[in-house]
Amino acid sequence: MEDCIFCKIVKGEIPSDKVYEDENILAFKDINPAAPIHVLVIPKKHVENILMVNDESIPNEIFKGIKEVAKILNIEETGFRTIVNCGRDAGQEVMHLHFHILAGEHLGEKIK
Ligand code: 5GP
Ligand code: ZN
Repeated sequence: MEDCIFCKIVKGEIPSDKVYEDENILAFKDINPAAPIHVLVIPKKHVENILMVNDESIPNEIFKGIKEVAKILNIEETGFRTIVNCGRDAGQEVMHLHFHILAGEHLGEKIK
């Protein structure tokens, strides 16, 4: 989709620090990390948010991508937190579905 930052990252028009990529999924480091490890996992196909997912393969592919990232970054044992913002109250800034993966320190008890 034109004017979508993450579609531009998928196309290579905006550089990103890639962690994992396959045919359907891209994982790259967040530009403004909220934890020592902060990666975004996105479908290459533009989908606005979690409510707009119609293609059943997308959640499967994303979960596969999350597993690959956990393996690559060696956080399977230590753990991580996954966050998906959807819409205004969650403060979704980029309107291309993305799963945040936060790790690399004790993340605290709360998610809010
Ligand atoms: P949201 O608030 O929409 O869930 O999260 C959007 C995330 O995308 C933010 O954590 C922000 O730092 C990240 N982000 C925004 N623009 C870029 C960019 O151009 N490159 C990268 N790597 N991350 C970005
Ligand atoms: Zn997009």
